Amino acid sequence: MSRVYNFSAGPAALPLEVLERIRADIPDWNGTGMSVMEVSHRGKAFMETAARAEKDVRDLLSVPDDYSVLFVQGGATMHFSMVPLNLAGGTQTVDYLQTGSWSKKAVAEARRYCKLNVAADSGDRNYTYIPPPSEWRLSRNAAYVHYTPNETIDGVEFHFIPQTDGVPLVADMSSTILSRPIDVSRFGIIYAGAQKNIGPAGITLVIVRKDLLEPARKDIPSLLTYKIYAESDSMTNTPPTFAWYVAGLVFEHLKGLGGLDVMAQRNKRKADKLYAAIDASDFYSNPVQPDCRSWMNVPFVLTNPALDSTFLAGAEQAGLTNLKGHRSVGGMRASIYNATSEDAVDALIQYMREFERKNG
Ligand SMILES: *Cc1c(COP(=O)(O)O)cnc(C)c1O
Repeated sequence: MSRVYNFSAGPAALPLEVLERIRADIPDWNGTGMSVMEVSHRGKAFMETAARAEKDVRDLLSVPDDYSVLFVQGGATMHFSMVPLNLAGGTQTVDYLQTGSWSKKAVAEARRYCKLNVAADSGDRNYTYIPPPSEWRLSRNAAYVHYTPNETIDGVEFHFIPQTDGVPLVADMSSTILSRPIDVSRFGIIYAGAQKNIGPAGITLVIVRKDLLEPARKDIPSLLTYKIYAESDSMTNTPPTFAWYVAGLVFEHLKGLGGLDVMAQRNKRKADKLYAAIDASDFYSNPVQPDCRSWMNVPFVLTNPALDSTFLAGAEQAGLTNLKGHRSVGGMRASIYNATSEDAVDALIQYMREFERKNG
């Protein structure tokens, strides 16, 4: 077997231990004589697995009791609509921090349902920084403030939690959840598509403060209503059982490694190394303001873009895959989520140095 070093932005690498466990489980899961894909979601075996996944993610993130943990299909993008539909009536104002490609999409969707105020926008410098809070134009009576703590495409990250003076804070944590501990009590809603740091695509983790569950509108579909998921333990209809099961294995795996403090140390070390290597060279550069650089997604460009395709082809040959930057940004991007090891980052840095020596 040969596994590559996978720097995919999403769907992203999964821990090998988890993949091996899945392989072992497939023909006869949990002594059922069936795979997890072939059992009822309402049967005892799956219900226990589902409940354990919830408990483990609550433990990992220290989720307070006054929050519901939901598993929802539809991806993070569905919450670009669900958040405004559940938290704001049609005439209410909502505030958004627009700091990159994903928050821009969230803005475009929410605009369809409510009065939207872009309270900060870093588009003037191509989403390479987080505007300082002193410059934000937050509304007085916003139903919520939405932001994207880590911009997966632009490689920009908030290294602080915004202050909103009691207005519920909503965060799209798709590409940063579980990378470090967070203070859940500071948030109204956290949502995160699974395929970066949780598990396979097809499921979204949602953490909602219970007092926000009552929908602001009554005319929304039940499957777009947080309260209905909360009341049915996310089994309103058939959930994506396989994705839920794998997410549970990832949570168990992270607990086994020592939890999110350990992951934070590893992730910071990985990111620091990679940025240090980029900054030490005139051959590579990262455009993001240093205090807003992402621990998870590291975009970088070659000073001579004519070498991009040679760089990528050589990387592929060296077993370093999925390094091509997003089509909207160009250059390269190394996504270094939890499951991308420090060895992978070391191998990338070594390849970059060699490539520079040969082509610089
Ligand atoms: C990947 C990603 C999304 C989109 O997720 P889907 O599951 O494809 O809807 C949204 N926001 C962020 C920050 C992401 O990284």
